[in-house]
Amino acid sequence: MTKRLYYEDSYVRTFEAEVIECTEKADGVFLIRLDESAFYPTSGGQPYDTGTLGGGQILNVYADEAGEVWHEADKKLTAGDRVKCEIDWARRFDHMQQHAGEHMLAGAVHRLLKGVTIGLHLGKDDSSIDVSLPGGRTNITEAEIRMLEDDVNRHIQADVPIKCYFPDEETLLRLPLRKPPTVTENVRIVQIGDDEYCACGGTHPSSAGQVGLVKIIDARPSRGKMRLTFLCGMRAFRDYRNRFDELERAAQSLSTGWENLHASVEALNARMKDAEYHLRQEKKAAALKTLSSVYENAARLGSVRAGQHVFDGLGMEGLREAASEFIKENGRIALFADRTDSGVLLLFARSADVDIHIGKVLTDAAKAFGGKGGGKSDFAQGAAQSADALAFALTQIQTVFDKI
Ligand SMILES: [Zn+2]
Repeated sequence: MTKRLYYEDSYVRTFEAEVIECTEKADGVFLIRLDESAFYPTSGGQPYDTGTLGGGQILNVYADEAGEVWHEADKKLTAGDRVKCEIDWARRFDHMQQHAGEHMLAGAVHRLLKGVTIGLHLGKDDSSIDVSLPGGRTNITEAEIRMLEDDVNRHIQADVPIKCYFPDEETLLRLPLRKPPTVTENVRIVQIGDDEYCACGGTHPSSAGQVGLVKIIDARPSRGKMRLTFLCGMRAFRDYRNRFDELERAAQSLSTGWENLHASVEALNARMKDAEYHLRQEKKAAALKTLSSVYENAARLGSVRAGQHVFDGLGMEGLREAASEFIKENGRIALFADRTDSGVLLLFARSADVDIHIGKVLTDAAKAFGGKGGGKSDFAQGAAQSADALAFALTQIQTVFDKI
């Protein structure tokens, strides 16, 4: 079986090994087995290591059920040769930081919330764990999140040692493991400080301080569990820096400090709402003023006057008010529209004494111009893609009046 060098020392970056076998798996992809390897095979939620193997690039590393480690690389090697290998250390150390951070977080969840962690997902951008909490709850409070973060970062600040070892059976039975091991033989234990013991075959730094920083960035229900998403090490630092820069930029835009940013944005929102309200009021007042000229230019259908007008930015509420005002007097039909980004809003209405179903007129006119709408016999609203719907509606109304 492949001897795994990282079991003894997770800081091995370069090593020499003997090629046991090499077969071509696909065009230009070779499957290689070594007598010993420090390359980590994908397992326990931690992705494989990359790097170089005998001058070729590592494409994938995995372990089979028998425990052999298989390397996929882009260079053909010869069995029996001794080859130089080098791990992409930036990627591996980042994985070690996320992995050890996960142990401490899962340990804190267990000690402080009696939660059981199921699995780790170590992603390209962030990592997550799924937690079963007592009573099946799938949410935690902000105070609980802070408690977990404080606990983990206290372990980091204290730089507690991280030890990995294979205890004998008797010792193993006495260890306060967070959860039962998934294997029965050669159980490898990772111990962090004196309150986190867990069976694990992964790679970890030798002390908690090297994890640097752990920050929970999301907590939400997921498939009956609570999913905690977090960042460790340089990932957490980069996140802090990005947020810092973005906060500074936003605060500068508002000529304030980041501490006042939320209050400033709230004040800005309130001012904008107020300004929008006053603008609408002014537009409404202007709309009401135009009604007399709409009446002057209205089409004459016997004793009925049908006024058309396309407003600009009045909104549905403004249209309703303008139409209501227009049809207050007898013998009137209002065919009103208001321009929007995607077409027009429509509002048709008639005075109480006019005998026509304005809801049907609107439905037909909206439909003819790619929209929809309808309403009662005296008041209707909708939307269409073009203001030509007004002329169309007037023609329909004229046809009805011609029949009378
Ligand atoms: Zn581990």
